[in-house]
Amino acid sequence: MSTLLYTHASFARHEVPPGHVEHPGRYRAVEKALDAEEFSQLQRCMPPRATAEQIERVHPTAFRERIESKIPSSGLAQFDADTFAGPSSLDATLRAAGGAIDAVDALFSGHAKNAFIAARPPGHHAEPDRAMGFCLFNGAAVAALHARAAHGVSRVAVVDFDVHHGNGTEAAFWHDEGAFYASSHEWPQYPGTGRQSDRGAFDNIANAPLERGADGEAFRRAWGENLLPALSEFGPEIIVISAGFDAHSADPLGGLSLIEEDFAWITSEIGAIAKDKAEGRLISILEGGYDLPALASSVSAHVKALMAL
Ligand SMILES: [Zn+2]
Repeated sequence: MSTLLYTHASFARHEVPPGHVEHPGRYRAVEKALDAEEFSQLQRCMPPRATAEQIERVHPTAFRERIESKIPSSGLAQFDADTFAGPSSLDATLRAAGGAIDAVDALFSGHAKNAFIAARPPGHHAEPDRAMGFCLFNGAAVAALHARAAHGVSRVAVVDFDVHHGNGTEAAFWHDEGAFYASSHEWPQYPGTGRQSDRGAFDNIANAPLERGADGEAFRRAWGENLLPALSEFGPEIIVISAGFDAHSADPLGGLSLIEEDFAWITSEIGAIAKDKAEGRLISILEGGYDLPALASSVSAHVKALMAL
């Protein structure tokens, strides 16, 4: 069975102001990297738009409608200091979530092994009722809760190795006994959440803050000793990865020192738990990563590891 790859022109169109770090060139760099011969076995898929019902499993109706009503017909709408939307942004954020949902459906029907959604904008900072940190809707959380609503499973997990803490996913899952969230992230760093002592209402959150400068050894220790055992113990029936690559040593926003092999390693480790607990069901959605060569090579290492599972 194959690994699915979701791409769409809207992911390159999502508009931001000139000079913004989360820009269309990121998507083009990823798309170009995954055009290489070694990725010819990927099954390329078109992401549909998530429906209102699907988005509202995470985001209240009023918030969804507010995002939609603020989308401009030209120019840019601003949601916080660094979160913007243009005419194409609604299509992009709905297809980011929709691609992940389509992948969930494909995995449960037995038609695919795993999937990567090469989307922008990212989603893990989007709280149920707040767009922030470049994120509008939270595609990873939406996909995980879709699996539970549509496929009869009761335990879903999102794991996140972006250099930033996924405050949005944590907020969406905090009071949800059947939803687990694990994150490694630089500390202190934007958005300021993700203390190790923050464990969710049902001990269903696992946070591993890493000091500035931490390298692959510290990263592997945090996952190997803390986050992966917690994930395994939770016993997810599907795992969604919030795959950010801004913990790479070359990243201009992050202060960690990971390399491509670290991203391949964590992908294989998460995949092993997916095989052990979730019949292999594993979906990955792109979050951050702002140095274009490092983003391209890190995504390549990640997707190769997915294909090897
Ligand atoms: Zn990030």
